[in-house]
Amino acid sequence: KEEMNMIQGALELRTKTVEGVMTPLGNCFMIQADAVLDFNTMSEIMESGYTRIPVYDDERSNIVDILYVKDLAFVDPDDSTTLKTITKFYNHPTFIDFTRKQTNLQCKSHLAIVQKVNDEGEGDPFYEVLGLVTLEDVIEEIIKSEILDE
Ligand code: ADP
Repeated sequence: KEEMNMIQGALELRTKTVEGVMTPLGNCFMIQADAVLDFNTMSEIMESGYTRIPVYDDERSNIVDILYVKDLAFVDPDDSTTLKTITKFYNHPTFIDFTRKQTNLQCKSHLAIVQKVNDEGEGDPFYEVLGLVTLEDVIEEIIKSEILDE
């Protein structure tokens, strides 16, 4: 029965939009690009429980990087290291996968930022960030149940 469910889930993927399974921007745990990694900030990051944290500059919709929590392993909160020092040091290939709203659920990395072209207003169309989606969100659609985090 479980296998039937999974097959059905996989088949239904074609009809699902990213928007339906993503975590909306308002619910995303993010960090400001000019943050200082002091005790408070580091505690907040740890307490969030997430492994990848979008970094934004000025506005939450302006995502410029992803912070990997494992990069904080050698950071001493007493040193007041800036977030920029860390992201520069590790210099991960910062490809942020921007996934379009209506496309199939396909992305290159485990975490993608979801955006759509907003052409509703008077001005020029622009890309609007809607949220983030991870591999886990997609797998949950296939197995049709919540994955309980370890
Ligand atoms: P993690 O490994 O950080 O727990 P997962 O890829 O397992 O992240 O995703 C678990 C759920 O958390 C998914 O629904 C995903 O959309 C959401 N998620 C992942 N990162 C964040 C974040 N920084 N802020 C809010 N939600 C997130």
